[in-house]
Amino acid sequence: MSLSPDITNSTSFTADLGVVTLKASSKRWSAYGWKGCLRDMPNLPLDLLYDIFQHLNPIDMLQLSRSSRDFRGLLMDRKSAFLWQAARQNIEGLPDCPTFLSEPEYANLVFDTTCFICRKPNVKGVMWEFRARYCVGCSDQMTAPWIVAAKRFPDGLPPNRVLFTPQNPIYYSTIQRRVHLRDVEKFIQEWGATDVEKREEYLKRQEDLIKDIRQFASACNSWQSTRKQAKEEKVERIRAERLTQHLRELGWGDEVDLMAENDYRPLSQNRFVRLTTAWNDKSWVKAKPHVIQAMESIKRDRLRSYHQQVMLGRLRILDLATLSYRRHPELRGKLFPHTRVIASFPEIRQIIDKPDDISVTIDDFLALTQTVHKSVADWRDKRISFFADCVRRQFDIPENIDPLQLAIGQFFQCNRCQRALALPYALGHYCYRTLKDHLDDYDLFADSAYCANLTLAVEARVDAINSLLEACNRDTRTTTVQDMDDLDLRFTCRLCNDFLVLFKELMDWHEAALHATEMGGHGAASAWKVVKSADVPGIEDVERTARNIANPAGLHIWECGHCTSMSCYPQEQILHHVQTAHNIENPVLHQDFFRVVNYNKEICQVYIAKADEELPDYLQQVVNDGVVVYVDDPDFFR
Ligand SMILES: [Zn+2]
Ligand SMILES: [Zn+2]
Ligand SMILES: [Zn+2]
Ligand SMILES: [Zn+2]
Repeated sequence: MSLSPDITNSTSFTADLGVVTLKASSKRWSAYGWKGCLRDMPNLPLDLLYDIFQHLNPIDMLQLSRSSRDFRGLLMDRKSAFLWQAARQNIEGLPDCPTFLSEPEYANLVFDTTCFICRKPNVKGVMWEFRARYCVGCSDQMTAPWIVAAKRFPDGLPPNRVLFTPQNPIYYSTIQRRVHLRDVEKFIQEWGATDVEKREEYLKRQEDLIKDIRQFASACNSWQSTRKQAKEEKVERIRAERLTQHLRELGWGDEVDLMAENDYRPLSQNRFVRLTTAWNDKSWVKAKPHVIQAMESIKRDRLRSYHQQVMLGRLRILDLATLSYRRHPELRGKLFPHTRVIASFPEIRQIIDKPDDISVTIDDFLALTQTVHKSVADWRDKRISFFADCVRRQFDIPENIDPLQLAIGQFFQCNRCQRALALPYALGHYCYRTLKDHLDDYDLFADSAYCANLTLAVEARVDAINSLLEACNRDTRTTTVQDMDDLDLRFTCRLCNDFLVLFKELMDWHEAALHATEMGGHGAASAWKVVKSADVPGIEDVERTARNIANPAGLHIWECGHCTSMSCYPQEQILHHVQTAHNIENPVLHQDFFRVVNYNKEICQVYIAKADEELPDYLQQVVNDGVVVYVDDPDFFR
């Protein structure tokens, strides 16, 4: 309960002595009007007064202390500090009274909002460090820049030990770097009055005091800002209540209730709502059309996001159904699309597009297994011909030849992630997207699972393999993958390896073509030194070793051949995944799992080195791994 005059003009409080009723005749707190009732109060026993005062706020106590000489005598007495303390307990979070202020001084500092000097009312900012409340004009008078004050210091009194500026000037930024002249005068005077031998002691005491003042000021600043925030929140609440009441009357009750859990955020973020400070009848009339417009758009957004949630839920169920679709034995090792592609099949789309309030279960999807298998086969055919067309676009190939059987039809580059891709992996390459991407646009959503569509295409990279074929004198238009395998050649890249005298990377044609693709083509046939594998004794063993080695982490990304969402694991993890998730005991590379060559990373893992030469330290690892072939023939290194 409070006796604050602005809030109530008639109030009562209960004490042990019975009920004392206080009546104020005017709205302003008039000390005069209270005199009769309260005259005898200062003479009550202290314990009774305590019972009374613990119901008061410090501001009431201040007013009482100014109301009569008796009250003043009572309340200004040091012995009455506990009465102030009792009243202070009613102010939540207010820091304790510091040692350098008396209780009445403290109450005056916190609660009397008039300027200490000119008595101008409603001065908001307290300069806690200066223990004062000054209006703007007076604060100019009562403070001075540090440097000005320091000049007034007598010799021997060090300004930086006693002069201090506010550290946390929330309400008085201009006062930053200024000092309180009252403190300055006091220091100078006390310093003069202190015996020379006691001055150091005095300075230490002052420093301790300043520390206390700073602590006190920072506690008060944070109390004040918390209070300000609480006040603002209350105002905000009242605003929200008034506004939502208007909206309920117009039938927006349901929408308003939905927003309530969210603190009415969508509405309160609206520009027009933010700018309207009070929702009285007048401002409501003006704001009504804008607010209704905002409500309509909020509702639209909510329904759209709800719809997306429903759709996402259904797609997640489809994701599970997809695993079941592909478990069919006939599909093993065959290219299988991502869930997003399956979601674009008309039969599936019909289910996903059912009205939001209809429940969809996995059985709805599983019932379509046969149809889906047919759609998957169509999709696979289309995808294969898409890749074939990509090659044809780049290179003139006779109609009766399948471009994807040709050596030049094996290498592609994803236009999105820039990776070099080789068949068969390239057919299944999709750039990593989650089910959430593009939910707004169904076609874009489904299409963008794979790069191979009209907007995000892969490109055939015939240039890279072209130079390779030329280097081994093969006809680019007819040489097949099988032909190249049969040639059993190895390549070193002259462009990248020329500076290496002691060793070279040695690649098979497939690795060499990927390398060239990643390096941006590598141009002419002269880039390659071609070696017959028969001339490199022991190459098969070393290559086998290299293939069996778990690649150093970071060099390669692995992808599952049986589900389109598993990728980016070290080799052991993808093997483990294939074994456990797909029940394949001995996973086969390029069938059950794939290696994606990381962009700009080394792809060659076999090295050829001069026999009898010591290899540099950084090759020690590959030597230990056993992926180096040693040759005597100096021709290799020319
Ligand atoms: Zn003033
Ligand atoms: Zn890609
Ligand atoms: Zn190269
Ligand atoms: Zn998998």
